[in-house]
Amino acid sequence: MSATLLEGGPIAAQIMSDVTAAVAALPEDQKPKLVAVMAGDNPGARAYARMQSKAAGKVGIAYELIELPEDVTQEDMASKIVELNADASATGIIQLMPVPAQINARAIQAIIDPLKDVDGVTPAALGEVVRGNMNAAPCTAQSVMELVKASGVNLRGLECVMVGHSEIVGKPVGLLLLDQFATVSVCHIGTSEAGMLEAHTTSADLLIVAVGVKGLVKGSMIKPGAVVIDVGMNRVKNAEGKTKMVGDVVFEEAVEVASQITPVPGGVGPLTTAILVRNTMNALKLQRG
Ligand code: NAP
Repeated sequence: MSATLLEGGPIAAQIMSDVTAAVAALPEDQKPKLVAVMAGDNPGARAYARMQSKAAGKVGIAYELIELPEDVTQEDMASKIVELNADASATGIIQLMPVPAQINARAIQAIIDPLKDVDGVTPAALGEVVRGNMNAAPCTAQSVMELVKASGVNLRGLECVMVGHSEIVGKPVGLLLLDQFATVSVCHIGTSEAGMLEAHTTSADLLIVAVGVKGLVKGSMIKPGAVVIDVGMNRVKNAEGKTKMVGDVVFEEAVEVASQITPVPGGVGPLTTAILVRNTMNALKLQRG
């Protein structure tokens, strides 16, 4: 058996095209602006900023990167967010991760105006997710749900296993699946420590993995015919010493067992920034009533 690839690129292209049309229809002085706040100069945060700026530019959304010094205090970073909350020209706010050790990221996220929270990180957004509002979820969780939709599976009563319980992927995805009457198990480090991970993954008709451990899920841990969504992005060096990305699932094995599978790269990744710009457009609509 060789699984069909569940690719994010075509879905992302459709979202980008829809957002481009929506932004183009707005008067010049009413277009959205996404403001990213970066503390310090982390290469990962800078790479996210580059991707976001490119995606925003493509759809006609203005993008501003605010760079705060590495030794910025919690108070000064919080003040910057408060200032942006009050700035009508900043219609979307995102805090770039990771942040320096002295910054409590959760506390910063909690002060973002929920109407400008385009990455679904405020407690209000997470509360909306509990109520089944997919549009309020973090971008990566929405990306996963778009791929679930594209797979065509009927979630009602389906055995779904979510491996990883982070606030940006595992927990919101678990809740959104539950909202569609799937039967959901959420696995985490405790599941692995108890030696129970395989018992869960092999029972899944829909298996979603978001851990950040290369090769955690082998082909033998997948139920034949399952749909597999691999969120993991792990940097490895190939035989020529070049860096490439691999997921948390052993793709070469899984593709022989699953019915549909996301490639890494090319699955969840391309969707995340497209969803960020869609959220920025949606945030503007909410702000303008
Ligand atoms: P995270 O916050 O580090 O969460 C990882 C989760 O995996 C935690 O719930 C952790 O449990 C669990 N875990 C760790 N080791 C485990 C094991 N051996 N068995 C079972 N569960 C285990 O990571 P994240 O932000 O959710 O990201 C997960 C992966 O997705 C990363 O590779 C990241 O790069 C990738 N990602 C991709 C995109 C994209 O756009 N493609 C976006 C975001 C993230 P504990 O907390 O209990 O230890």
